[in-house]
Amino acid sequence: MRFNTQLAQLGRASATAAQAVNPPLVRASTTLFSSLAEYKKSYDGVVFESPRYGRTGTGTTFELQTAMAALENTESCIATASGLSAIAAVLLSHAVPGRQILVFEGVYGRTRTLCEKELNRLGVKVRFFSSEAELRERLEAPTTLVYVEVPASLTMQMLDVEAVCHDAHAAGVPVACDSTWGTPAFFHPHALGVDISIHSATKYINGHSDLMLGLITGTYEALEPARTWCDRYGSHVAPDVCWLALRGLRTLGVRMQRHQENAVAVATWLRGQERVKAVYFPVLPEDRGHALWKKQFSGGGGPFSFEFEACDEAAFSRFIDNLQLFGLGTSWGGVDSLVMPAIPHHLRALPVQPDEGRLVRLHIGLADPQDLCADLQQAFEQM
Ligand SMILES: *Cc1c(COP(=O)(O)O)cnc(C)c1O
Repeated sequence: MRFNTQLAQLGRASATAAQAVNPPLVRASTTLFSSLAEYKKSYDGVVFESPRYGRTGTGTTFELQTAMAALENTESCIATASGLSAIAAVLLSHAVPGRQILVFEGVYGRTRTLCEKELNRLGVKVRFFSSEAELRERLEAPTTLVYVEVPASLTMQMLDVEAVCHDAHAAGVPVACDSTWGTPAFFHPHALGVDISIHSATKYINGHSDLMLGLITGTYEALEPARTWCDRYGSHVAPDVCWLALRGLRTLGVRMQRHQENAVAVATWLRGQERVKAVYFPVLPEDRGHALWKKQFSGGGGPFSFEFEACDEAAFSRFIDNLQLFGLGTSWGGVDSLVMPAIPHHLRALPVQPDEGRLVRLHIGLADPQDLCADLQQAFEQM
């Protein structure tokens, strides 16, 4: 089945018995078994994949996980409470005191905090790398995991994931990848060699800005540490959240196409604006990461960044505060368009001087791009 057909068909195994087109929402703490034999059997199965106890999921959870594993063309999926909780499960389950975890410098801000505050506290040596060559050099010391994200949050820097996997595997080290930006519509991490793929399904997979959810995919073997960690630490996500995410997932294909079209239209327009110093969006042919994007992605979604020509804080505030169609807030992936100041010295190791150009992250939603450009234009004029 092709992608959009899969989206329409997957995750409906329990719908037939319910005589409904969609799977039923099953809420439960206690799971009941018809016999001692059935009860015992449930503990032979894979945890988070079959009814055992509410904490490890119900039929609704399994429908979403099965659909997502199929879309990522792999064996298994674990749903968690948020994207960050999925990241935490993967990183902490690979934490071995005295060994190192190698992390791409451009990762999501809270991933970095987790590495610097929690992993370091556990005696794990976290080392950041900014290029494939730097990674190769660092792989010489005993390493339990290589962790990447493409493109990098905010800076939109690209990385050659296939090369990263090749080098990590040669050293016997698994690779985890935050695949949130590309989604299964545009990015196939396991085909590039990634062992563990992580999604903040809060974003495009749900697509409606109304829930928090994380998804981890991979083979049974690759997910074994994270699965055990989630089981032991009581990781859980409500079936209601999975049910809503499955509804959002149905339209992922059409939404992503439109997000891409709109984002390209707005980013292209922005490149010609006098206040704009640079646009960071690898989908644009002029972008420094375009070749690597083209090699690894079949499309690109809404979030991208742009940098202002030098301006003072008051002018910058007038731009942000006068936007009408862009909400000021974090996260992305819904219908709505959003603006967020990406303060580099706060989120990244990039210093910024008071009058230097400021970096802004836009998420381009499903509004008409002409109206979005007109809104940006009037906000530039207010500066
Ligand atoms: C938002 C985001 C996360 C965190 O996900 P939550 O669901 O908000 O916890 C992780 N990685 C990336 C790339 C994100 O954009």
